[in-house]
Amino acid sequence: MSIKENLEIIKNRIKQVAKDSSEIELVAVTKSAGINQIIEAINSGITNIGENRIQEAKGKFDQLKKMEIKWHMIGHLQRNKVKEAIKIFDMIQSVDRLELAKEIEKQAGQINKIMDVLIEVNVSNEETKFGVSPVATLELIQEIAKLSNIRIKGLMTIAPLVSNPEDTRPYFRALANLRDEIAHQQIENVQMKYLSMGMSNDFEVALEEGANMIRIGRAIFCNGF
Ligand SMILES: *Cc1c(COP(=O)(O)O)cnc(C)c1O
Repeated sequence: MSIKENLEIIKNRIKQVAKDSSEIELVAVTKSAGINQIIEAINSGITNIGENRIQEAKGKFDQLKKMEIKWHMIGHLQRNKVKEAIKIFDMIQSVDRLELAKEIEKQAGQINKIMDVLIEVNVSNEETKFGVSPVATLELIQEIAKLSNIRIKGLMTIAPLVSNPEDTRPYFRALANLRDEIAHQQIENVQMKYLSMGMSNDFEVALEEGANMIRIGRAIFCNGF
């Protein structure tokens, strides 16, 4: 099936589960896709692109920068890559520690950019995963909120890899609850607008639990649900 057809299927599935599908941002994760595939996705209506490696993103960005799309950094970000990341991305979804936020603040300040970020939370507390632990999230957000060239726009998580997507539900629910708790604090300079959760194999469960941004790669580019 073509990328266009895959996207039709995904959009229909989103419509079936989401309360209001026009509120759902679909980020096409292009880490396994070539430039022609990405262009095909954009021509089929994709406006958000997600990449997890700076070097790869840079190559693609240079070829696509004339197109009207938003770039999302979704992978682990090292401090020495921040300067490059700031130039490419419209949103960094993987902020999980204060030292990283401070470097973003510094580099964004140098080019007068206000950098939109999501806070990546390790809701499953897996040792192998990046992300701040749920109990430390509020404090991290309170610290980052003081930085003037960063705007926190919500939370992101990656659910554990499970064979039954239903098993991801408690993690998505936990992130939604955490979002509500943080929103309730009404911290200045912090918006809890986006809940970025759900990938090819579990996006329907994520949508049922309140995701309004889903990140999908394989189901668009490799026919892989
Ligand atoms: C690869 C990736 C995705 C997309 O995963 P698929 O299973 O290909 O849909 C989403 N989010 C992150 C952080 C990723 O690295």
